[in-house]
Order: sequence, then C-alpha cells, then structure tokens
Amino acid sequence: MSRILPWSWPAAAAENPVNDVLYFDYAATTPVDERVIAQMIDCLGKDGTFGNPASRSHAFGQHARERVEQARRQVAELVGAVPAQIVWTSGATESNNLALKGVARARGDKKGHILSSLLEHKAVLDTLKQLEGEGFAVTYLAPDDKGAITLDAVRAALREDSFLVSLMLVNNELGTVTDVAAIGRLVRERGALFHVDAAQATGKVPIDLRVLEVDLMSFSAHKTYGPKGIGALYVGTRALGQVQAQIHGGGHEQGLRSGTLATHQIVGMGEAFALAKAQGESERVRIAALRDRLLDALKGLPILVNGVSAPRVPHTLSLTPYWDVSLGDELAISSTSACNSASNAPSHVLLALGLRPAEALRSLRLSFGRFTTEQEIDRAATLIRNALLQSVP
Ligand SMILES: *Cc1c(COP(=O)(O)O)cnc(C)c1O
Repeated sequence: MSRILPWSWPAAAAENPVNDVLYFDYAATTPVDERVIAQMIDCLGKDGTFGNPASRSHAFGQHARERVEQARRQVAELVGAVPAQIVWTSGATESNNLALKGVARARGDKKGHILSSLLEHKAVLDTLKQLEGEGFAVTYLAPDDKGAITLDAVRAALREDSFLVSLMLVNNELGTVTDVAAIGRLVRERGALFHVDAAQATGKVPIDLRVLEVDLMSFSAHKTYGPKGIGALYVGTRALGQVQAQIHGGGHEQGLRSGTLATHQIVGMGEAFALAKAQGESERVRIAALRDRLLDALKGLPILVNGVSAPRVPHTLSLTPYWDVSLGDELAISSTSACNSASNAPSHVLLALGLRPAEALRSLRLSFGRFTTEQEIDRAATLIRNALLQSVP
C-alpha cells in the first residue's frame, strides 16, 4: 500500500489510465519480469509442473521437486550459498520473523540481548518489539550523521549477553549500504549470530556468503522482479540448530518451515534471481546513469538529497524539498516505505536521520529499476521542477 500522491481511485482512472503514470516506486515492489512469468505459468496448468513437490511416489511430484531444487540453486548462486542453506518462506517479512524469533525462542529461558538499528524495516522492528514483550532486551542503534550504522556503533553497543545482531544490507528508503563485511567479523568475534535483511539488496549489490560472516540472511522475490508472496532465509552453518521453527506441520524445509511448497512462486523467484545474477551489474550501471540524469535535471532546485554521503545504491533516491510540493497523480512514488505509508506516519528512517517530522512527511522516495527509461526520468524531472516552482510558499 504505497501512497501515490494524491491518489483517487477509481474516479481518476478513466481520464488518467495507469499507463500514463510514471512508476518510480521499485523499492515498494517491482513488476514481474516476463521471463519469470513464463516460468511460473509453466507450473500451473494440467500440462505443467503442477505436482506437489513433496509427493515422492509419482512423476508429477518428482518434476515439481526438480524445479524447486533448480530454483534453490539459482537463489543460492546469486548470493554464494550452498543450496541446502536456502529455506523457502512467504517473503522477507516471514524470513525476518523466522530468523529473529527462531533464534531468540530457541534459547528457552535464557533470554539475553539483541542489537539492531532504528533504520530497519518494520518486519524487523515489529518482530523485535514482540520479543521485547517476551523478555528479550533490544538496543536500536541510531545512524551516524551520514545515515550509516557504523562498526564503532556496533562495537560500543555489544554486550556480554548479546546473542544476535540484525542489520539490513541496503536501506529501503535511502538506498544506503551497511558494511556487513566488517560488522560480521566483529559480531563473530564476539560469538553472536548475525542476521542481515537483504530484501532490498539482491540484484543491486554483490553478495557473497562464502566470504561474508553472516549467519542468517533474508530475501524477497518481489523487490527483484519476481512474484510477491515468496522469499527465502539463508541459514548458515553456525546458525544451524539454533533456529526454532515458527510454522509447524509436515516438517518441510528441514523442519524449519512447514507448508506445501509453492512451486510456481519458487520457480519464479529462482528465475528472477538468475536474471539478477546475469544482469544486475549492467543494470546498476544503467540505473546510476539514470539517477545522475535526474539529479542533474534537478540541480539548483531547493531539494536536499538524504543519505548522500554514505555508500549507497543508485536505485533509490530520497529527496526532501524545502517546502511541501503537490506532485499530482502522474508520478507514482512514496513519501516513505510502503508500510509507513499505510499509517501516514512520518518515516522512522528519516526521523532517525535527524529530519523534523514535517521534513520527513514532505520527503519523496523515488526508486528506479529495470524498466525505467530516460524519457521517464526527463518527465519526472519536469514534473518535480514544475510542482516545486508552482508551490513556492
Ligand atoms: C520489502 C521489504 C521487506 C518485506 O518483504 P516482503 O517479501 O514484502 O515480506 C523486508 N525488508 C525490507 C528491507 C524490505 O524492503
């Protein structure tokens, strides 16, 4: 539910078909790539791979199982994991829940301390709130003045009883990138487990779990041109046996996540991640050029770019105009993450960065992707420029 500003449905639909609306909200979700759709459709009908992957006794199940395992290899390959370390879930929200609750609750009465940050996605923050209610202590690190969670901040906040650290790799509002390599080394030295939410990172930054000291990593398909409702949790060697299942019933996925595997969703995620591996890097270069083209066109206007001095991906741009602008309905963007939009609250990420509530509320998140064109960038720049100049207070 992202806030399309201002959005009136269905009244505006007749004179303003969605095809005329510029989509600049790839960080909320991406369209499914046609190549992914083709693979998914192939798993649905009576002549397709519709069998239950858990059916061991016949060819229908066997074929479905083969495609599920192929997808598991594709996901593992993008991130440098071993296929057996990939556990299918319904999305990054569930992966985050499984990682955090799974590790915390497996400790029984021991409780202890979890370290995370104010910049996390609600799927992490709300889960940690839940765990606080169950008696766990949680510290939420604030970012530095650049918008980054630093190694020093983690070092200073780790406690004797810290058993888990959870930080995101790429921030969904700012596009900033956390140094999980350095932080992972520290966390491992201190003997805690390290969970990383990588929902916004796949296809945007290289991920190699063979060298990263990360124990648990969450993925989502629909931020990377796959379908909604499917994701995965990487469970590394050190985390194995330390994660308690949160969904029971049948013992699928090594007992970590029961439920009939959604073959079409899984196959879609596999194909999406294979495409990300094949073209993520060239896509990043193209999108960086588009982002720079937009910034060039906005040069000289009274707009601040948030998180500009931290390492970041070019796919997501957070802007704060000096005054409120009304963009009309031709530009589909968010003022915050899709989840905050639903409640109309100012972005907790921008507040953590030091913005005032009014500044956070008038901020614009533009996110670009595989299907963004130069023409769309130019139109968006014109729309923003005009809206800003027309609303000079
Ligand atoms: C989108 C997102 C999620 C939630 O993923 P779903 O697959 O939609 O549940 C979690 N974390 C981050 C950083 C995200 O951007």
